[in-house]
Amino acid sequence: MKDFSKYQTQELHAKDLKHNMHPFTDFATFKEEGSLIMAESEGAYVYDTEGNKYLDGIAGLWCVNIGYANEEMGEAMAEQTRRIPYYSSFGHLTTPPAVELSEKLVSLAPSNLNHVFYGTGGSMSNDTAVRMIHFYFNRLGKKDKKQIITRTDGYHGSTYLAMSLTGVEYDHIGFDLAPDLVHRVSAPNVYRRPDGMTEAEFCDFLVDELEQKILAIGPERVAAFFAEPIAGAGGVLVPPAGYHKRIADVCKKYEVFLVSDEVVTAFGRLGEMFSSESVFGFQPDIITCAKGLTSGYIPLSANLISDEIYDVISVPQAKGAMFTHGFTYSGHPVSCAVGLKNIEIMERMDLCNHVKKVGKYFENQLKEKISSLPIVGDVRGSHFMMCVENVANKETKELLPAEAEIGNRIAAKCEEAGVLIRPLAHKNIMSPPLILNVQEVDTIVETLHKGICDVQDELIREGLW
Ligand code: PMP
Repeated sequence: MKDFSKYQTQELHAKDLKHNMHPFTDFATFKEEGSLIMAESEGAYVYDTEGNKYLDGIAGLWCVNIGYANEEMGEAMAEQTRRIPYYSSFGHLTTPPAVELSEKLVSLAPSNLNHVFYGTGGSMSNDTAVRMIHFYFNRLGKKDKKQIITRTDGYHGSTYLAMSLTGVEYDHIGFDLAPDLVHRVSAPNVYRRPDGMTEAEFCDFLVDELEQKILAIGPERVAAFFAEPIAGAGGVLVPPAGYHKRIADVCKKYEVFLVSDEVVTAFGRLGEMFSSESVFGFQPDIITCAKGLTSGYIPLSANLISDEIYDVISVPQAKGAMFTHGFTYSGHPVSCAVGLKNIEIMERMDLCNHVKKVGKYFENQLKEKISSLPIVGDVRGSHFMMCVENVANKETKELLPAEAEIGNRIAAKCEEAGVLIRPLAHKNIMSPPLILNVQEVDTIVETLHKGICDVQDELIREGLW
């Protein structure tokens, strides 16, 4: 039995409000309603300080792939901490877990990616990719080849540079972006594609748009294109069939590096360890990943880098010339030990095959049971990466008024019923731990169904729909 009496919820709330500044927070609501303090966990469930139990339909934040409170993970962390809890990996230094994890990651990654560089989060990983690519072209004397192309509604992180890559315009409000660096092309949003276009025509449009963008900037000035295999925080956008392969061909044609941001899609969420090649059939020049790499148990990110890039960056130059990029916690031994254990557990549990079955069931159940609801415009995604987009009108796809707070309302109804799903403006996102069983899938789908129905009734009563 878990003991929740040790948590002084009111005191924690007061201290939290006073001193703990939360990221991505609507302060008006937060200051009025306070926080929800998660204190304990097991499997696919988390508990707040008062002992309320929630089935976590979002795995924290697309993170906890193997589920919560895994004893072996705790033990791996403790053991490495007792051996050597920290050492730098600058210069010639390293530790056994960093070496072993690198070899393991390379064995799982597309065959052209044979080198690993570590950081502590997805944003850092994407920042690192930009710096590596700039360094690469500088070394080749192509000093003008620096511009980056990303997509509307792509999410790449929250540091200055990663947020400049991010194409979710809502996230830019009130901030500045890195000047003269990033260019945007359209999101592969099949649901909201231009009227009258087939999915195949939309794919042609997107591929052509990227090529025209490269030509307009000048191929000699374009260094890289960043894309998530399935855009997550931008609304779980599954691109039209064939998109990634064709995008990769355009990039290759103009010597533009393709960075596949697999911060969410790697480590089993779509049923494969990496999605770029195994799910979508293309070979990127760099994969950035984090989150599921350690199931979120400890911060760790990795850049998987092609031989082509590594060979130029690492070619010996004059003595003393360096690749002056890296972090105190690059290759952190405890993080790497946890990453290794996480992959070992995933392989032992055959978690990717589990996702291929139960994740597919989740996808199918959501599409089957939720799509027909009057307020639902689209149910999309793949396996354990899903989104429900709510609309005022299914035909016109017109949105509900902002004051309907549709995403928040549906998430709140589900939370009251003990299921966590994520609100994102007029959408709701789900990315549960990959260990979910069929009954837990049914619970999420049924709870969401009831939550949406209740909200529909409420909106009618309030005259908002
Ligand atoms: N890329 C993607 C696709 C992400 O979803 C995220 C985080 N949600 C990031 C990058 C940034 O990762 P972090 O928050 O660890 O910096």
